[in-house]
Amino acid sequence: MEKIPCLVIGSGPAGYTAAIYTQRSGIQTVVATGLQPGGQLTTTTIVENFPGFPEGIDANILMENMRQQAVNFGAQVWEKMVAKVNLDETPYHILFDDNSEVTADTIVIATGATAKYLGLADETKYQGMGVSACATCDGFFYRKKTVAVVGGGDTACEEACYLATLAAKVYMIVRKPFLRASQIMQERVKNNPKIEILFETNTLGLYGENGVEGAKLVYRKGETDERTYDLPIDGFFLAIGHKPNSDIFKPWVKTDELGYIITEGKTPKTGVPGVFAAGDVADPHYRQAIIAAASGASAGMEVEKYLSTK
Ligand code: NDP
Repeated sequence: MEKIPCLVIGSGPAGYTAAIYTQRSGIQTVVATGLQPGGQLTTTTIVENFPGFPEGIDANILMENMRQQAVNFGAQVWEKMVAKVNLDETPYHILFDDNSEVTADTIVIATGATAKYLGLADETKYQGMGVSACATCDGFFYRKKTVAVVGGGDTACEEACYLATLAAKVYMIVRKPFLRASQIMQERVKNNPKIEILFETNTLGLYGENGVEGAKLVYRKGETDERTYDLPIDGFFLAIGHKPNSDIFKPWVKTDELGYIITEGKTPKTGVPGVFAAGDVADPHYRQAIIAAASGASAGMEVEKYLSTK
């Protein structure tokens, strides 16, 4: 069985940055990309807040550049998904979804986080038929149509602004009487004439014959002025947060109640020797590309330190 000095699991900013650091210091590194090569950022459009790009940069180009930089130093990129790990003893054992296996002396967990859904049966029923958790992927299908975005955070605001460039009308369905998003994003949605925010509103279900034709909404549920109504829409976009992809590591690494990996202090150490966590899988707070990249750098440096003392 092949033994890899450093396996990076995940191909977002954390994963590729870790690989740039490890491979640049001469440690043979493999990046297992997972199902979404380039990670979550590839589902967005322009990244405006990654330093070094005063005009912003296309998220896919940014991720392709990071991949290329890791490859230029000699890292291998495998388009594979890790199905199972065994971290009982070194070298650690890894099983991929194609049933191939390797062992690794060190692992950087950079598996990121996945979009959450409300849990309505209709989300499954209409998946790919009007329900999406990625405006950048699917917005194209809603040119000049009416869509709704669920959520009141930065992601929801970004998705709403992006969809407003394509759709005729964008509703934001926000359960609280206010947005949670940063001030600048709040201003952007509030100043966009195509976006209408439906505060204190929850989704009960969706309806439509051959795809989404509308959402059943409830305003001020449980209050005296509670009102249930149908909102005709063509597309229903979820932007209500993410779940960290940490399940397969849970028997060995500590996680918080939401599943985010808890690392030791400000380091990427998981407590399992030679296993480090970087990026959104270990970051319940910031979830920014630049922060993920920085934690990937820390993880890469820790891999180097760990292997040099072995
Ligand atoms: P957030 O957790 O910040 O926001 C989630 C939103 O979804 C909240 O409005 C929340 O409502 C709502 N929500 C959650 N569950 C439900 C539910 N079951 N029904 C209805 N609404 C629900 O997630 P984001 O993905 O927006 O952002 C995560 C982090 O990433 C944040 O720190 C954010 O600042 C950052 N980010 C930064 C960006 C940037 O700077 N360019 C871009 C995107 C994200 P409630 O408020 O009631 O809990």
